[in-house]
Amino acid sequence: ENEGEDCSICLSTIFQGNLMAILPCSHRFHEQCVLRWLNQSRACPYCRSRIS
Ligand SMILES: [Zn+2]
Ligand SMILES: [Zn+2]
Repeated sequence: ENEGEDCSICLSTIFQGNLMAILPCSHRFHEQCVLRWLNQSRACPYCRSRIS
């Protein structure tokens, strides 16, 4: 089964039921983490691909 994965921004697990955001590169993070991150950077925190 899907045990969830870690959010590379806050390094904690993304549980089912958490609000999550999926970037165009298909990496997933908590929605709240991505929103905070995108204020500072326009690149995926995991693979650094640019988000337009
Ligand atoms: Zn997070
Ligand atoms: Zn990525």
